[in-house]
Amino acid sequence: MLIQYLWNDESAPDPGDPLAECVYGSRLIGSDPDLVLHGGGNSSVKMPFRDITGSDVEALWVKGSGWDMADIEKEGFAPLPLRRLRRLLDLPSLSDTQMMRELSAARLDPAAPQPSVETLLHALIPHHAVLHSHADAIVNLTNLSDGTDRVREVLGERVIIVPYVMPGFDLARLVRDLWPAGGEKSAGMVLMNHGLFTYGSTTKDAYRRHIDLIGRAVRWLGLHAPYRPAEEPPLGRVDPVDLARLRTEISKLAGRPMISVRHRSPEVARFVRRDDLAGLATRGPLTPDHIIRTKRVPMVGRDVDAFAEDYRRYYRRNLPRARGETTRLDPAPRVVVDPEWGMLSVGTSAAAAQVASDIYHHTIPVLIRSEDHLGGYQALPEGDLFEVEYWELEQAKLKRSGNPPELTGMTALITGAASGIGRACGAELMERGAAVTGLDISPEVVAAFDSVGWLGVECDVTDPEAQAAAIAESVERFGGIDIVVICAGIFAGAGPIADLDRPAWRSTMSVNVDAAADLLAGVHPFLALSPVGGRVVVVSTRNVAAPGPGAAAYSASKAALTQLARVAALEWASDGIRVNIVNPDGVYDTGIWNEELLAARAAQYDLDVESYQRQNLLGTKVTSHQVATVVAELAGDRFSATTGAQIPIDGGNERVI
Ligand code: ZN
Repeated sequence: MLIQYLWNDESAPDPGDPLAECVYGSRLIGSDPDLVLHGGGNSSVKMPFRDITGSDVEALWVKGSGWDMADIEKEGFAPLPLRRLRRLLDLPSLSDTQMMRELSAARLDPAAPQPSVETLLHALIPHHAVLHSHADAIVNLTNLSDGTDRVREVLGERVIIVPYVMPGFDLARLVRDLWPAGGEKSAGMVLMNHGLFTYGSTTKDAYRRHIDLIGRAVRWLGLHAPYRPAEEPPLGRVDPVDLARLRTEISKLAGRPMISVRHRSPEVARFVRRDDLAGLATRGPLTPDHIIRTKRVPMVGRDVDAFAEDYRRYYRRNLPRARGETTRLDPAPRVVVDPEWGMLSVGTSAAAAQVASDIYHHTIPVLIRSEDHLGGYQALPEGDLFEVEYWELEQAKLKRSGNPPELTGMTALITGAASGIGRACGAELMERGAAVTGLDISPEVVAAFDSVGWLGVECDVTDPEAQAAAIAESVERFGGIDIVVICAGIFAGAGPIADLDRPAWRSTMSVNVDAAADLLAGVHPFLALSPVGGRVVVVSTRNVAAPGPGAAAYSASKAALTQLARVAALEWASDGIRVNIVNPDGVYDTGIWNEELLAARAAQYDLDVESYQRQNLLGTKVTSHQVATVVAELAGDRFSATTGAQIPIDGGNERVI
């Protein structure tokens, strides 16, 4: 934990543009994961809004929901009339739903985003600029048994200390009551079990105070609760089948396929090996914000049913505190800590699992510091946490949210994924929500996509050990394998059988058939465990049904591959695994084709390139993307009653039909 003052007058915007300054300051705060994580925190500035008649309205420009401070723009702020906001604060009570309705209606620009739920708090603070974060160092001080005293000891009279209440109207009202006794001379306020607000006449002032206060907390913690980097060896391998089994159990509880990512760093190893792991890990999150992403507590160990039962009991116990009608959330864990396995971060998508991971990686040091040096970590009582988990605003969000992309939470493995059809399949499956592991002999596969849902592994598929290692790596990263697309294939050159090129024949068989057989054998246990039923799509070729002279090795290898897939369809149907085959032809936007080769081939048939590419019954151009679309459909649910099928993607071929 290192806190730095990063405001740079040369790159900062002109102070005459307060909103631009607020954007700049918000980004400085938002880009530091020790201060805010994934959409947490907010900011505002008070300045006039010029309406269409040319008159100025005194306004609050507050961060809109759905914007991340790290990359917020001016458009991320909603302008609201200050007078109206302060009037709302005079109401004796206001439900959060009513409050959000009022805030939404009060926007001076209907195109602006929904204002932050903390808008009224920002409005009542008299200073022009306000910044809010959930800095690790601050929540570390507030989540102690004697948190209030520690905050006072470390930050002195510079801050107002606000006891915990739910964010929203109640919090704004409480701060309004507390403000007269010290608000004016304070640099900020510490919200117990929540975070830090600072303010000033400019965002620069508020930022300077933010960094100053956090810096004091960081230095104090460094002195009184030093945290040393872990030196433990990372945790060892776990049987990937066991990992996949746990992911399936979790997915069943969640009622949908989940991504589960294993973490075994020295940091994690030290934490999970603690004798007090079970007691320490289950006291609650650093700030209630996190509960939506991590649940109240992690699962300690691997007993999924016991965790679910505990969750249901917690729900029933606290239900009377829910405001309004409540739908129970799924009882599946989002963080798992286990002395042997380390930590698993779980989410409905790779991105959600990443958020849970980031939050817990920031939680671990706070737990250790508090427990080893500061008299013990103490989070909010579960009832308060329940109120946030089942907050009416979150529940409403749940009802509004539409269906996620159809392959969300599923994980796919594709061979030959660095280019051509394989790469197009990777793009299409990710587009539809899946997390994808791509294998390829080309190192380009590693950075083929820049996405948290992408794992590129450089791998020669003809090496069975390398392929097995890639499968294991994929399971560590995403939890299991639901979809397999066999795309790796070579065309090692044309020639008559009479002049058999033995090395070319051998290498063709090795890549196109042997490697596929090895892969299928290797992935079978994972497909059989898949919470959605395994799906395999094999990319074969039109040549199987309609071979041509001169391509014996290629045609024979693909025919063998097709037969292999058909047998897999027969053998694996009882495991709920579907195996289907696509037979593309004339796909010219792949790695083996280039403009020169295309021109040469077209010339040979006395055609221009365009006509050459459209030599099929439909006169259409077949693209990698088109093949990938069919592959993704076969991997999805629409073909749930189809296995062993062979689908041409060739623009129509008389010899096949
Ligand atoms: Zn907050």
